[in-house]
Amino acid sequence: MNKQLYKLPQLPYAYNSLEPYISEQIMTLHHTKHHQSYVNGANVLLEKIWDSRQKNTELDFKSVLRSLSFNVSGHILHSIFWNVMAPADGVKNKPTGEISKAIENEFGSFEQFKKEFSQTAISVEGSGWGILMYDRLSQRLLIAQIEKHNLNGYPEHKILLPLDVWEHSYYLDYKNDRAKFVEAFWNVVNWQEVENRFNS
Ligand code: MN
Repeated sequence: MNKQLYKLPQLPYAYNSLEPYISEQIMTLHHTKHHQSYVNGANVLLEKIWDSRQKNTELDFKSVLRSLSFNVSGHILHSIFWNVMAPADGVKNKPTGEISKAIENEFGSFEQFKKEFSQTAISVEGSGWGILMYDRLSQRLLIAQIEKHNLNGYPEHKILLPLDVWEHSYYLDYKNDRAKFVEAFWNVVNWQEVENRFNS
């Protein structure tokens, strides 16, 4: 059987191209070390599960699957995260089209959305993410906090805009000032990509 493994995707821009908002150093470490470690972790666990089937050995499912979920979710979230950012001089600073209408419908205004999303991201306890999602059931936009990479997640909800607020995402640039990082993030949001995800 040909078993496919997870792969680290390339960034759609250079490591230094989100400066001055996110430094080359952070982007390099975040992509080549942190994201890579989730890819590696997921692959090691898939192999471990595969191995135990071949050798008919016992597996601690509770621990292995928890760890697999952490690593696969980390891989998925980071892959989306890189794509919803772009160099500040090349991005639409505000949403347009259908996503803009949906934001105004749900939040009343873009400013109100930004405020709620920022507060969500800033108040994540410890390591996690602020997320804008689309709920296919209610056909409404929802903001959520994700703890680590997966706890508090919603199955089936389409992730439109994730913001990584683990310390590795900003500490070298902003120290403990997460709010300053979240404010800077708005300059590099690639609204075209968010809109593409919404429409897909
Ligand atoms: Mn991260």
